[in-house]
Amino acid sequence: MTVPRTITIDGPAASGKSTIGALLAERLGYLYFDTGVMYRAATWAALDHGIDIADEAAVSRLAEELVIRVTPPTVNDGRQYTVYADDVDITWEIRSPEVTRNVSPVSAYGGVRTALTEQQRRIAGQGAVVMVGRDIGTVVLPEADLKIYLDATVETRAMRRHLENVARGNASDYDQVLEDMRRRDQIDSTRAIAPLRPADDAIIIDTTGLGIEEVLAKIGTLVQR
Ligand code: C5P
Repeated sequence: MTVPRTITIDGPAASGKSTIGALLAERLGYLYFDTGVMYRAATWAALDHGIDIADEAAVSRLAEELVIRVTPPTVNDGRQYTVYADDVDITWEIRSPEVTRNVSPVSAYGGVRTALTEQQRRIAGQGAVVMVGRDIGTVVLPEADLKIYLDATVETRAMRRHLENVARGNASDYDQVLEDMRRRDQIDSTRAIAPLRPADDAIIIDTTGLGIEEVLAKIGTLVQR
């Protein structure tokens, strides 16, 4: 039995990727890396610099120059990791509704994707990894040992995100979350470069109605196979 060293988890927003990915990596003793963080950091930086999100050249240039670092949590406030953009801690800023609304247009730019994909491959090259995102199995690590694609109905995913917002004490409106998620799914899955879709050799798991442990048990069987 050979245990996979490179595991990819792709899927739409709130399909369970980050929760499952982090737990799986912890159990295997692997590095966990959430690539969505990088697209969010680039979006945050563009907004922070007052760059027009529609200006593809300016946004791409910024993504190429930005130094994004992800470290183990530096503050005990429920974060999974700490994210720095040019040494500024932006861990919570990248979860703001403004970043969430603008991240899909930024992620559709070829220049942004080239810059971030290159960094993601370098990170994955450092050792055993669980890498999470939208295009990891299809584009970033097409030779990965095990590819998982998590999915769930958009209503289920929107409810999960809504409850997460409420638990964090943030204002949240379910209908708005649902609408934003539909829009993000639409842009992410129809863009020309690296659209959201399962790799041909990915195992698809529908997490609608499944608990975290049930999903982990399914993946555990695949890892042992
Ligand atoms: O996973 P998360 O919701 O944080 O991702 C934010 C956005 O980043 C996605 O909606 C998508 O537009 C983009 N993304 C991407 N490719 C990845 C990871 C995230 O385009 N590998």
